Amino acid sequence: MPPSEVWRRQDAAEQATGLDPCPAGWPRPRLYGLPLPWITPVLDGVPYWTQIHGRRLLRCQQQWLCQVCGLVLSPCALVITDGELVTDAGLHHRCALLSLTVCEGLSLRMLLAVVARTDLYPLPGGPSPPWRRWRLHAAVLGAAAPVGGPAAARMLQEHQAPPLTAAHEQDRTQS
Ligand SMILES: [Zn+2]
Repeated sequence: MPPSEVWRRQDAAEQATGLDPCPAGWPRPRLYGLPLPWITPVLDGVPYWTQIHGRRLLRCQQQWLCQVCGLVLSPCALVITDGELVTDAGLHHRCALLSLTVCEGLSLRMLLAVVARTDLYPLPGGPSPPWRRWRLHAAVLGAAAPVGGPAAARMLQEHQAPPLTAAHEQDRTQS
């Protein structure tokens, strides 16, 4: 079955039954003991780990959603890159941590980067899956850190505890 066929059939089955085998949310549903990313196609109870759900990845790009949990990202997200993005969508810190912990396809040679939406540019041309390939702003790529190293660990940590927003600060000073 060609890759696009799997997720299209998954969507058709979801429409017919009203059941989503891999819904957005946290914690992630599991199959065979492994957490399912939101963009992994699942058809008839079988996860297609090496494939991508094209419509969902496109939604991640258009709506700034996390590829692992399908929920909206904060203005600063993480991406995993080896020069090119491994998958062209952002992740929450907890979701990046989950991916780096359980996903065999992610190697320690890869890099972790903190990005805002404006740091990502669609690449022109090429074959057209429903989603766009993204290019990272050079400065962001320059600040990317090897997965498993102390700088990447700090990125995950910093991301875990975002700075207080102005509204929070105001609450604190008023109370
Ligand atoms: Zn997430």
